[in-house]
Amino acid sequence: MIDVRRHNANFCRPHFVAHCEEQVRRAIKHFDMMRPDQQVLVAVSGGKDSLALWDLLTRLGYSADGLYVGLGIDEYSDESARHAREYAASRDLTLHVVDLATEHGFTVPGAAAATRRSPCGACGLSKRHVFNQFALDGGYDVVATGHNLDDEAAVLLGNVLHWDLDYLARQHPALPAAPGFARKVKPLYRLGEREMAAYCVLERIDYQVDECPMAAGNRHLGYKETLNGLEARSPGSKAAFLFGFLERAHERIGPADGVAGDGVELHPCPSCGAPTPGEVCAFCRLRERAIPVTAS
Ligand code: SF4
Repeated sequence: MIDVRRHNANFCRPHFVAHCEEQVRRAIKHFDMMRPDQQVLVAVSGGKDSLALWDLLTRLGYSADGLYVGLGIDEYSDESARHAREYAASRDLTLHVVDLATEHGFTVPGAAAATRRSPCGACGLSKRHVFNQFALDGGYDVVATGHNLDDEAAVLLGNVLHWDLDYLARQHPALPAAPGFARKVKPLYRLGEREMAAYCVLERIDYQVDECPMAAGNRHLGYKETLNGLEARSPGSKAAFLFGFLERAHERIGPADGVAGDGVELHPCPSCGAPTPGEVCAFCRLRERAIPVTAS
């Protein structure tokens, strides 16, 4: 039996899988995330969330390919890629791979060293750029990411602690397409980390269990721990925090569809064509700084 305390319920295997399907179905319907006739690109890391997401979407009848981005984080990246490849092969699904070192000349550790900033910042920026560009070039209708309830609640806590209104306006399970930007959705926002791990075990999905060696010091891990403490004392706190924000507060901060109406004028980056408010986009600036450090 799998207990989900925030629902005050114990599920047997078939009912737990049906519960996960139902939560994803509800998320997709509530925010009109995608239609069965659309082509979905799943951002695949080799971890439990992205592989469970890919599994659930195909189970629900969506046509979904995966994209794995090689970050160059030594054995961790090698192992993550192996899990992504093996899952795709086992389900006869299409997995695309973009390797940062091969295709852009730098790695995440190289970028972190070049910028002297958190590797997660360089990593997130690179992944967002690559997933978006790949979706646009490949004609995908929507990019789906495996952010779960724990991830989103932790991001929300960080954004609230700093009262970052721009980030709060953009924190939404479905961001619409715009010129130069693919549609982005988070169909797992109603399911917790523990549920995703249980789903993978029950569905025999072999995923990367080890934590990224660059995660140390990541602020979101601290926010997650804080929320886990609240959840242990009061089950359902995370869901109440996140769903309450989406239902009652988000529209007061930004438009219902999550597009921040900040009126910033964007133009194509002269190097890669991505929309940017600056002279050159943030990804190309990062690449320029990181290539020499990665190569040395
Ligand atoms: Fe990237 Fe940071 Fe996650 Fe590692 S922990 S995969 S560096 S975002």
